[in-house]
Amino acid sequence: MKGNSMNYRIKKKPWILRLFTKPFQTVAFSPNIYTPDGKEISKAQLEHEICHLRQQRDTGRLRYLFKYLTSKKFQFDMEVEAIAVEIEYSDQSKRQAIADSYARLLSSSAYSHCAPSYEVAMRAICKACGGGLGEAI
Ligand SMILES: [Zn+2]
Repeated sequence: MKGNSMNYRIKKKPWILRLFTKPFQTVAFSPNIYTPDGKEISKAQLEHEICHLRQQRDTGRLRYLFKYLTSKKFQFDMEVEAIAVEIEYSDQSKRQAIADSYARLLSSSAYSHCAPSYEVAMRAICKACGGGLGEAI
């Protein structure tokens, strides 16, 4: 099921979220999507965040938050799923670069090192995309 059935509002990231995220990061916490400046984001990025809203609906919002903050495996799985959606909505020519960028981020402090390594993250992203990345790698 795709994101159009989710209700959401785009808001500016409040100070509390700015404290715990990198300046460039967007955060979804149902029913809001918090962007760095409160402005619209690209369709592909929006679908990434809407995927997180769906995950929160399916898991329960507070349970999701708790698990996201306490389980690297859960955080990793949730992100890989949302990244695959973002890639699906991105231009073919940009997919490889997006996957590369996220593989780097997931294995960095930006995502609390939820991926043990770049390679593990890249493999999971490629798998989740089901060949949607095209050749390469
Ligand atoms: Zn995400």
